[in-house]
Amino acid sequence: MNNSPQKSGFVALIGKPNVGKSTLLNKLIGQAISITADKPQTTRNRIRGIITESDYQAVILDTPGIHLPRNELHRRIIQYAVQSLQDTDLLFFITEPLSKNQNSISELDQLVIEKLRELSTKIILVLNKIDLYTPDQILQSISKFNDSFDFLETVPISALKNKGLDILKSFFSKYLPEGIQYFPEDQMTDLPERVLVAEFVREQIMRHCFHEIPYGAAVIVESFEESESLIKIYATIHVEKKSHKKIVIGKNGSMLKKVGQRARVKIEGLLGKKIYLSLHVKISVNWINNPRKLSEFGYPKS
Ligand code: GDP
Ligand code: MG
Repeated sequence: MNNSPQKSGFVALIGKPNVGKSTLLNKLIGQAISITADKPQTTRNRIRGIITESDYQAVILDTPGIHLPRNELHRRIIQYAVQSLQDTDLLFFITEPLSKNQNSISELDQLVIEKLRELSTKIILVLNKIDLYTPDQILQSISKFNDSFDFLETVPISALKNKGLDILKSFFSKYLPEGIQYFPEDQMTDLPERVLVAEFVREQIMRHCFHEIPYGAAVIVESFEESESLIKIYATIHVEKKSHKKIVIGKNGSMLKKVGQRARVKIEGLLGKKIYLSLHVKISVNWINNPRKLSEFGYPKS
């Protein structure tokens, strides 16, 4: 007899930007594989986390946040987010409780709820960041959201403070269908290491240059050479214009150095090996609206 899990399936995290989807995924997995930042629109890749327990394997999708489309990049992100819901077995709709001055569900959440109506997936409401709200606000929010949609379950949590996460985990064995084990039990993500490395570099650019470069930059890992004691990584940071290039490089290269150092520490933590990281900044004019460049940089066609 083998001891593979009896339940398995795909779980999508959906919700507007900044509600804590990436934080939740990281906490569920127990290791930071998805990038987080206190700025919206950080997640561009469909990063998966995999949790394997004795009775289930849950493959988790961290979808990009949904927002109102204003350009080709936005349009692709939304399409991408919605597509990722079609074939999932379980869906966590993540949002925050309503605040004191907020009488109704935000426009963006209503937009998401409208999309949920088109799906036949099991949908669970996750109210995150309860550490920031009063019990009264939380209770009222639970009833308001459930008035607008018939959620299978409602769970108030705080991803940051590790509250309610066990309840979410219990849903994996409860609601996932019977199925095969998709991945080896020690694997935590199926994203290639190159993509994770690119995401870590982009995370640092978002953290340090967000105000000047609202869409950040695209990062491509050009080469990844692994030897016994060291991994040498060469990556190109694509920005839209000369002024952005100047910002990313910084005075005497100080910004690029900072971005590189911080990304390197995180990559070393992830890969468990000494890293040599070489970053190069290149101007790719208007890549945000260029379908060929978007595809090249890893945003699939809708
Ligand atoms: P995403 O855009 O939905 O993936 O959101 P992130 O995971 O990147 O989180 C956005 C911000 O919210 C970050 O600054 C997180 O630290 C913060 N955050 C996430 N979960 C919680 C929580 O439970 N409580 C509080 N106070 N902040 C949280
Ligand atoms: Mg995210």
